[in-house]
Amino acid sequence: MAKSLIYIAHDNLNRNKGALKGANPADCEILFVESQNLLRGARWHKQRVFFLLSAARHFAQELRDEGFVVHYLKADNTASGIRTIASKYGEVIATEPSSYRLLASLKEIGVRFVANDFFLTSRKDFISWANSQKSLKLENFYRWQRARLDVLMVGDKPEGGAWNFDEENRLPPPKLGYKWPKYPQHSRDQIDLEVLAEISEFELLGKVEDTTWGTTREAALAQLKRFLTDSFKDFGPLEDAMTKESWAVHHSLLSTYLNVGLITADEVVTEALKRYRKGGVPISSCEGFIRQVIGWREYINGIYWYFGDEYRASNTLGSKRKLLPLFTDSTKTKMNCVSTTVAQIDERGWVHHIPRLMVLSNLAALADVNPAEFLSWMREVFVDAADWVMVPNVIGMSMHADGGRMSTKPYIAGGAYISRMSNYCGDCAYNPKTRTEEDSCPFTTLYWHYLARNGERFKKNHRMFQQLNGMKKLNDLEATVKRGDFVIKGLERGEI
Ligand code: SF4
Repeated sequence: MAKSLIYIAHDNLNRNKGALKGANPADCEILFVESQNLLRGARWHKQRVFFLLSAARHFAQELRDEGFVVHYLKADNTASGIRTIASKYGEVIATEPSSYRLLASLKEIGVRFVANDFFLTSRKDFISWANSQKSLKLENFYRWQRARLDVLMVGDKPEGGAWNFDEENRLPPPKLGYKWPKYPQHSRDQIDLEVLAEISEFELLGKVEDTTWGTTREAALAQLKRFLTDSFKDFGPLEDAMTKESWAVHHSLLSTYLNVGLITADEVVTEALKRYRKGGVPISSCEGFIRQVIGWREYINGIYWYFGDEYRASNTLGSKRKLLPLFTDSTKTKMNCVSTTVAQIDERGWVHHIPRLMVLSNLAALADVNPAEFLSWMREVFVDAADWVMVPNVIGMSMHADGGRMSTKPYIAGGAYISRMSNYCGDCAYNPKTRTEEDSCPFTTLYWHYLARNGERFKKNHRMFQQLNGMKKLNDLEATVKRGDFVIKGLERGEI
């Protein structure tokens, strides 16, 4: 009988999941495809391309070492790569893809799918949950997950007496001089060096000189160990803080590895709970971390599949502005929080969730940037930016481009939030406390500009009542809107 061919996508790098689970070198051969069109089709960050290619090539080598025949092809696109050799095999098998694009192209060539078990919640289970809800509140999903997976539960009650400890987990950054943990540096081997040499031929964004990201399962496990040893304890209270003294704060950096399968959510949860049970880690940190893994991550993936492929094109607010120059060039702004964040992305292809949400996305929403343009940029520059991650996060959560299908209110804030949660404002050319002056913080001015231009749309949204009421009480709204127009023009020119 002809052997099967197992196609391994770049985010299926795990021997015990999906199509590879239980696979035997005697019955099947393995195929990886490097799509050259994808490489040339967008201006990806070097860190992203390096990580994805090198991790796949390392994993391919591990499978060879185990005795598999592995074909590693470079082709115009994934489908043409598979077609090159598919006819020699009984069938082509793959894990259900994590993006609509790959799903469509593999369906077209008749690939047989194995259920995608890289998540704790199957697509079917999420749909059943979502269909049973009046609104798709993350908190309700998270509680359902906690109970269903029996994580941090005492009987049917949450451990520690509460489902979340958000109130304790909103500390600003500690005073200057706080000792931040060191982050592991991953040395480069022959495969890494080959990939680095190859990608230098492509026109890519950012830098890749550092050794922030490892490219093997071993590196992913080392990252998990480092997090549990040095950062887990203080993760929760400081998870939203931004500081010029530490680019990662106490974040785990595990999303990069989780999103390609080098480590899995069940492993991460098991190890985190084991460490928590040893003592010395407050429940606020443990619960905060667990929520990101079994709550937010799973919820976002579920939403991606629940809302369908057309969801990415949503633009309810009709935002048309082109991507602002400061997103691609940190020197195009005097806003300290933005230039610092963009410079960090340039370095490592990564910043944590608060600069993503409350600096970058907040600015894009306030300045009325076209959601599709902003989504493309976010997809290109983050090392962990899977399609399923970015589409709901940008379209639903941050840009409110879906008219509130995912989050009932837009995530927007003025400079006061960034001032409270970071130490960026002290060195900034702008003042977060004012809105109409020449040096007023663009976030503060644009926050009111956003409410003024969208007030009519939100007037029936009870969650926006307080903000709209605050706007009505402003006695300088006209001057604020005038300055907002000026700020937007300046942002377009890269002069603010
Ligand atoms: Fe950012 Fe405004 Fe603070 Fe400057 S003043 S760092 S622009 S929030």
